[in-house]
Amino acid sequence: MRIDVLTLFPGMFEGVFGASLIGKARERGIVELNTVNFREFSGNKHGTVDDAPYGGGGGMVLKPEPLFAAVEWLTAGMPEDARPRVILMCPQGETFTQRKARELAAEKHLIFICGHYEGVDERVREYLATDEISIGDYVLTGGELPAMVVIDAVVRLLPGVLGNEESAARDSFSDGLLEYPQYTRPADFRGWKVPDVLLSGHHAEIAKWRRRQSLLRTLKRRPDLLEKADLAPEERRWLAGLRSALSEERSSGRREIPPGD
Ligand code: SAM
Repeated sequence: MRIDVLTLFPGMFEGVFGASLIGKARERGIVELNTVNFREFSGNKHGTVDDAPYGGGGGMVLKPEPLFAAVEWLTAGMPEDARPRVILMCPQGETFTQRKARELAAEKHLIFICGHYEGVDERVREYLATDEISIGDYVLTGGELPAMVVIDAVVRLLPGVLGNEESAARDSFSDGLLEYPQYTRPADFRGWKVPDVLLSGHHAEIAKWRRRQSLLRTLKRRPDLLEKADLAPEERRWLAGLRSALSEERSSGRREIPPGD
Protein backbone atom coordinates (compact mmCIF):
# COMPACT_ATOMS: atom_id res chain seq x y z
CA MET A 1 0.00 0.00 0.00
CA ARG A 2 1.07 3.55 -0.65
CA ILE A 3 -0.07 6.40 1.60
CA ASP A 4 0.52 10.09 0.91
CA VAL A 5 -0.30 12.69 3.54
CA LEU A 6 -0.85 16.32 2.58
CA THR A 7 0.13 18.42 5.56
CA LEU A 8 1.66 21.75 6.53
CA PHE A 9 3.52 20.00 9.37
CA PRO A 10 5.36 16.97 7.91
CA GLY A 11 7.70 16.87 10.93
CA MET A 12 4.81 15.69 13.11
CA PHE A 13 4.79 12.35 11.29
CA GLU A 14 8.46 11.49 11.71
CA GLY A 15 8.21 9.68 15.05
CA VAL A 16 4.97 7.87 14.30
CA PHE A 17 5.96 6.70 10.83
CA GLY A 18 9.38 5.53 12.01
CA ALA A 19 8.43 3.62 15.17
CA SER A 20 6.88 0.34 16.20
CA LEU A 21 4.82 -1.72 13.76
CA ILE A 22 4.44 1.09 11.21
CA GLY A 23 8.21 1.60 11.11
CA LYS A 24 8.73 -2.15 10.62
CA ALA A 25 6.01 -2.33 7.94
CA ARG A 26 7.83 0.45 6.08
CA GLU A 27 11.20 -1.28 6.42
CA ARG A 28 9.71 -4.49 5.07
CA GLY A 29 8.16 -2.67 2.11
CA ILE A 30 4.57 -3.49 3.12
CA VAL A 31 3.65 0.18 3.12
CA GLU A 32 5.18 3.26 1.58
CA LEU A 33 4.41 6.41 3.57
CA ASN A 34 5.11 9.89 2.23
CA THR A 35 4.34 13.35 3.50
CA VAL A 36 3.79 16.22 1.08
CA ASN A 37 3.93 19.78 2.34
CA PHE A 38 1.22 21.40 0.27
CA ARG A 39 2.73 24.82 0.92
CA GLU A 40 5.03 23.86 -1.96
CA PHE A 41 1.95 23.97 -4.19
CA SER A 42 0.81 27.43 -3.05
CA GLY A 43 1.54 28.90 -6.49
CA ASN A 44 2.71 32.20 -4.94
CA LYS A 45 6.10 33.40 -3.83
CA HIS A 46 5.04 33.87 -0.20
CA GLY A 47 3.83 30.28 0.11
CA THR A 48 0.40 31.45 1.26
CA VAL A 49 -2.06 28.58 1.61
CA ASP A 50 -4.87 30.22 3.59
CA ASP A 51 -7.08 33.27 3.41
CA ALA A 52 -9.86 35.00 5.33
CA PRO A 53 -13.34 33.48 5.01
CA TYR A 54 -15.83 35.05 2.63
CA GLY A 55 -18.66 36.57 4.64
CA GLY A 56 -16.35 37.45 7.53
CA GLY A 57 -15.75 35.73 10.82
CA GLY A 58 -12.57 34.80 12.64
CA GLY A 59 -9.80 32.45 11.57
CA MET A 60 -8.33 31.48 8.24
CA VAL A 61 -9.50 28.95 5.69
CA LEU A 62 -7.20 26.72 3.62
CA LYS A 63 -7.40 27.70 -0.03
CA PRO A 64 -8.43 25.10 -2.60
CA GLU A 65 -5.63 25.64 -5.18
CA PRO A 66 -2.68 24.14 -3.23
CA LEU A 67 -4.66 21.05 -2.20
CA PHE A 68 -6.02 20.40 -5.72
CA ALA A 69 -2.55 20.98 -7.20
CA ALA A 70 -0.88 18.58 -4.74
CA VAL A 71 -3.42 15.79 -5.38
CA GLU A 72 -3.20 16.34 -9.15
CA TRP A 73 0.60 16.10 -8.94
CA LEU A 74 0.36 12.86 -6.95
CA THR A 75 -2.14 11.29 -9.36
CA ALA A 76 -0.76 12.63 -12.66
CA GLY A 77 -0.86 10.01 -15.39
CA MET A 78 -3.00 7.59 -13.38
CA PRO A 79 -5.94 6.09 -15.25
CA GLU A 80 -9.36 7.22 -13.93
CA ASP A 81 -10.17 3.79 -12.45
CA ALA A 82 -6.84 3.57 -10.56
CA ARG A 83 -7.30 6.90 -8.74
CA PRO A 84 -6.64 6.69 -4.99
CA ARG A 85 -9.19 7.50 -2.31
CA VAL A 86 -8.68 11.08 -1.12
CA ILE A 87 -9.54 11.27 2.57
CA LEU A 88 -10.22 14.62 4.16
CA MET A 89 -9.75 14.60 7.93
CA CYS A 90 -12.72 16.53 9.22
CA PRO A 91 -14.67 16.67 12.50
CA GLN A 92 -17.89 16.74 10.45
CA GLY A 93 -17.04 13.51 8.58
CA GLU A 94 -18.10 9.90 9.07
CA THR A 95 -16.91 8.65 12.47
CA PHE A 96 -13.96 6.32 12.06
CA THR A 97 -14.57 2.66 12.93
CA GLN A 98 -12.78 -0.68 12.65
CA ARG A 99 -15.07 -1.45 9.71
CA LYS A 100 -13.80 1.66 7.90
CA ALA A 101 -10.21 0.65 8.74
CA ARG A 102 -10.82 -2.75 7.08
CA GLU A 103 -12.39 -1.07 4.06
CA LEU A 104 -9.38 1.26 3.62
CA ALA A 105 -6.89 -1.57 4.22
CA ALA A 106 -8.16 -3.18 1.01
CA GLU A 107 -7.03 -0.17 -1.08
CA LYS A 108 -3.67 0.13 -2.85
CA HIS A 109 -3.20 3.88 -2.50
CA LEU A 110 -4.64 6.45 -0.07
CA ILE A 111 -4.18 10.20 0.10
CA PHE A 112 -4.93 12.00 3.38
CA ILE A 113 -5.60 15.73 3.61
CA CYS A 114 -4.88 17.34 6.99
CA GLY A 115 -6.83 20.54 7.51
CA HIS A 116 -5.76 23.32 9.84
CA TYR A 117 -6.93 26.72 11.15
CA GLU A 118 -10.69 27.16 10.64
CA GLY A 119 -10.75 24.28 8.16
CA VAL A 120 -10.68 23.91 4.38
CA ASP A 121 -12.52 25.59 1.53
CA GLU A 122 -15.80 23.74 0.94
CA ARG A 123 -14.83 22.92 -2.68
CA VAL A 124 -12.14 20.57 -1.40
CA ARG A 125 -14.81 18.62 0.42
CA GLU A 126 -17.17 18.67 -2.56
CA TYR A 127 -14.89 18.07 -5.54
CA LEU A 128 -11.60 16.60 -4.30
CA ALA A 129 -12.28 14.37 -1.30
CA THR A 130 -13.78 10.91 -1.81
CA ASP A 131 -14.17 10.38 1.96
CA GLU A 132 -14.42 12.60 5.04
CA ILE A 133 -13.37 11.00 8.30
CA SER A 134 -13.73 12.22 11.85
CA ILE A 135 -12.02 10.49 14.77
CA GLY A 136 -14.67 11.66 17.23
CA ASP A 137 -16.94 14.46 18.33
CA TYR A 138 -14.30 16.94 19.42
CA VAL A 139 -12.21 19.51 17.57
CA LEU A 140 -8.43 19.26 17.28
CA THR A 141 -6.03 21.90 16.00
CA GLY A 142 -5.29 20.04 12.79
CA GLY A 143 -5.86 16.85 10.82
CA GLU A 144 -2.38 15.45 11.53
CA LEU A 145 -3.21 13.51 14.72
CA PRO A 146 -6.49 12.20 13.22
CA ALA A 147 -4.64 11.07 10.06
CA MET A 148 -2.07 9.25 12.22
CA VAL A 149 -4.87 7.48 14.08
CA VAL A 150 -6.48 6.29 10.85
CA ILE A 151 -3.17 5.30 9.24
CA ASP A 152 -2.13 3.30 12.31
CA ALA A 153 -5.44 1.41 12.37
CA VAL A 154 -5.24 0.70 8.63
CA VAL A 155 -1.57 -0.30 8.44
CA ARG A 156 -1.82 -2.82 11.29
CA LEU A 157 -4.44 -4.68 9.22
CA LEU A 158 -2.17 -5.10 6.18
CA PRO A 159 -1.04 -8.69 5.70
CA GLY A 160 2.34 -9.32 7.33
CA VAL A 161 2.30 -6.32 9.69
CA LEU A 162 1.15 -8.02 12.89
CA GLY A 163 3.22 -11.00 13.97
CA ASN A 164 -0.01 -12.85 14.66
CA GLU A 165 -2.81 -12.26 12.14
CA GLU A 166 -5.23 -14.06 14.42
CA SER A 167 -4.93 -11.34 17.06
CA ALA A 168 -6.35 -8.70 14.69
CA ALA A 169 -9.30 -10.98 13.98
CA ARG A 170 -10.04 -11.14 17.73
CA ASP A 171 -9.54 -7.45 18.50
CA SER A 172 -12.42 -5.41 19.87
CA PHE A 173 -14.93 -4.42 17.16
CA SER A 174 -13.57 -6.98 14.64
CA ASP A 175 -16.59 -9.22 15.13
CA GLY A 176 -18.81 -6.40 16.36
CA LEU A 177 -18.07 -7.11 20.05
CA LEU A 178 -15.54 -5.91 22.61
CA GLU A 179 -12.66 -8.29 23.26
CA TYR A 180 -12.69 -10.61 26.30
CA PRO A 181 -10.34 -9.91 29.27
CA GLN A 182 -6.70 -10.92 28.78
CA TYR A 183 -4.33 -12.23 31.46
CA THR A 184 -0.68 -13.25 31.57
CA ARG A 185 1.68 -14.62 34.22
CA PRO A 186 1.64 -14.64 37.24
CA ALA A 187 -1.52 -16.68 37.79
CA ASP A 188 -1.85 -15.09 41.23
CA PHE A 189 -0.87 -11.44 41.59
CA ARG A 190 -1.38 -10.00 45.09
CA GLY A 191 -4.19 -12.47 45.60
CA TRP A 192 -5.96 -11.48 42.37
CA LYS A 193 -6.25 -14.74 40.52
CA VAL A 194 -6.54 -15.55 36.84
CA PRO A 195 -9.87 -17.35 36.18
CA ASP A 196 -9.40 -21.13 36.56
CA VAL A 197 -10.75 -21.90 33.11
CA LEU A 198 -7.82 -20.12 31.45
CA LEU A 199 -5.37 -22.40 33.29
CA SER A 200 -7.37 -25.55 32.54
CA GLY A 201 -5.99 -26.27 29.06
CA HIS A 202 -9.56 -27.05 27.84
CA HIS A 203 -9.62 -25.21 24.56
CA ALA A 204 -13.36 -25.55 24.00
CA GLU A 205 -14.14 -24.32 27.53
CA ILE A 206 -11.71 -21.41 27.11
CA ALA A 207 -13.31 -20.43 23.78
CA LYS A 208 -16.78 -20.59 25.38
CA TRP A 209 -15.67 -18.48 28.39
CA ARG A 210 -14.05 -15.89 26.11
CA ARG A 211 -17.10 -15.60 23.89
CA ARG A 212 -19.37 -15.13 26.92
CA GLN A 213 -17.01 -12.55 28.42
CA SER A 214 -17.04 -10.67 25.11
CA LEU A 215 -20.82 -10.68 25.10
CA LEU A 216 -21.04 -9.63 28.73
CA ARG A 217 -18.49 -6.83 28.36
CA THR A 218 -20.24 -5.52 25.29
CA LEU A 219 -23.60 -5.66 27.08
CA LYS A 220 -22.23 -3.74 30.06
CA ARG A 221 -20.05 -1.20 28.25
CA ARG A 222 -21.34 -0.83 24.69
CA PRO A 223 -24.84 -2.30 24.44
CA ASP A 224 -25.33 -0.32 21.20
CA LEU A 225 -22.86 -2.69 19.47
CA LEU A 226 -25.04 -5.72 20.19
CA GLU A 227 -27.77 -4.46 17.90
CA LYS A 228 -25.58 -5.01 14.84
CA ALA A 229 -23.48 -7.98 16.06
CA ASP A 230 -23.84 -11.37 14.41
CA LEU A 231 -25.12 -13.52 17.30
CA ALA A 232 -26.46 -17.08 17.53
CA PRO A 233 -30.08 -17.43 18.79
CA GLU A 234 -28.88 -19.02 22.06
CA GLU A 235 -26.49 -16.11 22.59
CA ARG A 236 -29.36 -13.66 22.17
CA ARG A 237 -31.40 -15.65 24.72
CA TRP A 238 -28.47 -15.72 27.17
CA LEU A 239 -28.05 -11.95 26.76
CA ALA A 240 -31.76 -11.35 27.32
CA GLY A 241 -31.45 -13.21 30.67
CA LEU A 242 -28.36 -11.18 31.56
CA ARG A 243 -30.04 -7.92 30.64
CA SER A 244 -32.81 -8.53 33.16
CA ALA A 245 -30.25 -9.64 35.80
CA LEU A 246 -28.32 -6.43 35.15
CA SER A 247 -31.35 -4.17 35.49
CA GLU A 248 -32.33 -6.08 38.67
CA GLU A 249 -28.76 -5.54 39.95
CA ARG A 250 -28.99 -1.81 39.21
CA SER A 251 -32.35 -1.29 40.86
CA SER A 252 -31.73 -3.48 43.95
CA GLY A 253 -28.01 -2.70 44.42
CA ARG A 254 -27.50 -6.48 44.99
CA ARG A 255 -25.04 -8.46 42.86
CA GLU A 256 -27.04 -10.73 40.56
CA ILE A 257 -24.15 -11.53 38.21
CA PRO A 258 -21.14 -13.20 39.83
CA PRO A 259 -17.95 -11.08 39.84
CA GLY A 260 -15.70 -11.90 36.89
CA ASP A 261 -18.74 -12.82 34.84
N1 SAM B 1 -14.01 24.84 11.98
C1 SAM B 1 -14.03 23.42 11.82
C2 SAM B 1 -15.36 22.87 12.26
O1 SAM B 1 -15.96 23.43 13.16
O2 SAM B 1 -15.79 21.82 11.72
C3 SAM B 1 -12.91 22.77 12.64
C4 SAM B 1 -11.55 23.00 12.07
S1 SAM B 1 -10.27 22.23 13.00
C5 SAM B 1 -9.79 23.46 14.10
C6 SAM B 1 -8.94 22.18 11.87
C7 SAM B 1 -8.73 20.86 11.18
O3 SAM B 1 -8.43 19.85 12.13
C8 SAM B 1 -9.88 20.31 10.39
O4 SAM B 1 -9.93 20.86 9.10
C9 SAM B 1 -9.56 18.83 10.34
O5 SAM B 1 -8.65 18.52 9.30
C10 SAM B 1 -8.86 18.59 11.67
N2 SAM B 1 -9.71 18.02 12.72
C11 SAM B 1 -10.07 18.60 13.88
N3 SAM B 1 -10.83 17.80 14.63
C12 SAM B 1 -10.94 16.64 13.94
C13 SAM B 1 -11.61 15.40 14.18
N4 SAM B 1 -12.32 15.19 15.30
N5 SAM B 1 -11.51 14.43 13.26
C14 SAM B 1 -10.82 14.63 12.12
N6 SAM B 1 -10.17 15.77 11.82
C15 SAM B 1 -10.23 16.76 12.71
